[in-house]
Amino acid sequence: MPLMTSWVESANSPETDFPLNNLPYGSFLSDEGETCCGVAIGDMILNVTTLEADGLIGIDGEEEVFFLGDWSDFMALGAPVWAAFRSELMALLGADCEDPQALVDYLVPQVGTQMLMPFHVSEYTDFYAGKNHAVNVGTMFRGPENALPPNWLSIPIGYNGRASSVVVDGTDVRRPWGQLKGPDDTLPRFEPCKRFDFELEMGAIVGTPSDGPVTVEQADDMIFGYVLLNDWSARDIQAWEYQPLGPFQAKATATTISPWIVPKAALEPFRTSTPERERELLPYLQEPRPMLYDIALEVGLAPEGKDETIITRTNYSVMYYSSAQQLTHHSTSGCPMNTGDLLGSGTISGTTKDSRGALLEIAWGGQEPITLDTGETRSFLEDGDRLTLRGHARGDGYRIGFGTCAGTVLPAAKDPFASSL
Ligand code: CA
Repeated sequence: MPLMTSWVESANSPETDFPLNNLPYGSFLSDEGETCCGVAIGDMILNVTTLEADGLIGIDGEEEVFFLGDWSDFMALGAPVWAAFRSELMALLGADCEDPQALVDYLVPQVGTQMLMPFHVSEYTDFYAGKNHAVNVGTMFRGPENALPPNWLSIPIGYNGRASSVVVDGTDVRRPWGQLKGPDDTLPRFEPCKRFDFELEMGAIVGTPSDGPVTVEQADDMIFGYVLLNDWSARDIQAWEYQPLGPFQAKATATTISPWIVPKAALEPFRTSTPERERELLPYLQEPRPMLYDIALEVGLAPEGKDETIITRTNYSVMYYSSAQQLTHHSTSGCPMNTGDLLGSGTISGTTKDSRGALLEIAWGGQEPITLDTGETRSFLEDGDRLTLRGHARGDGYRIGFGTCAGTVLPAAKDPFASSL
C-alpha cells in the first residue's frame, strides 16, 4: 500500500510517524486545560473531543464517546465500530476532503502539547516471549545449560504486573529503593537500586473484553492497537526476590508507554509470522496466520545535558510468541480479559550485542560496560539519564510510527523508612 495523502501537508512527508495511513489515538491537554481525545496527523493533533461535541464526527447510536478525553469507551465498542470511525477520519483528513477549512480550527500542533494516558489501564500483564532475551538472561542467572526453562518453548511465560504503575511518555521515573541480596543469603540490605535498567517491548491493548478461553484468531480480533513499552526494571531487587514466584517489586516502579495507540488496521501491511517452532506448540496456541509485525525499534540513551547515543536497534518480528498467542494463553484458565488490558510483549532482543533490548544484556550484567558517544560508560542507568524508545514500520514512501516512549531517571528519594525523630 502506498502513502495516502492528506491536506495536512506535514502528513505527506516520508519521515513523519503520522501519515494518513496511521491515524493513531492519543489524549492531550488542550489550551483550555481539558483532557481531549486526539488523532495524530503529520505534526498536528486533530481534536476529536471537540469535533464530536460540535457534531462533525461521531459514532452511530452513541453519545459523548470522546467526552472524557479517554479512548476506553471507544475501544470497548469493537472492531466494526473501529473500522467505521477510521474511515470517517480518513475522509475528513484525506486529500479529497471537500472542506478542509472547516477543520483547521480543530488542529493543534504536537510540539508543546502535553500528552496524557490515552486509555484506562484496567490490568497489566508482562510476558517473556523473546527467545534471545530469555537465553541471555537465563545464561546470566542460571548458566548456559539451564538458560531456557523447560516450559519456555511451549508456554508464553508471563506475570501479572501493576496497572497502577503504567505512565505515559515523558514521565520522570524515580530510582527505587528495595531489598537487595547481602554478602550471603541471610543478610539482605534495604538500599537504593544500583542496577536500574530498561526493557524494550511492545504493548498490545485489549479493546473488546472476553469471558472464558478465546482462540488465537479471536484474541487477534480483540486487540485494539499497539504502543511502545519500557518495562523499567531493578535488576538487583529482581535477582534477590524472583524465586519462586517471579518478579515483584523489581518491576513495580513504573512502566512507560508511548502516547499514541497505533491501530491494528495501520499495521496490517506489516504482518509477519512468528519464527519456526523448535518444538511444536499445542494446537490451541498455533497461529492461523501471521500475527507479529515488522516494526524497526531503537533505544537512545542521553546522559543529563548531553547528546543521545543509540544503544540498540532491533525488530519486533524476532519475538517467539505474538500478542494474540499470549492473550489466548492468558484466557485458558477462564481469566476474563477487559477493555484496557495491557500486555507487554517481553524484552525484544536480536541475536547481536547491538540489538539487545536491555542494558543487563548489552553490558552483560556489568561485565562488559558500553561506551557512549560522549565517552562515558554504562553498565546500568545513572541518575539523570534520559532513555527514549522509538519504532516504526516502513511502507512504500511512508512509515507508521509510535512517537517516543521516553523517561528520565531521577535520583532515589531519601530513605523512606528513616526515623523522623
Ligand atoms: Ca518485561
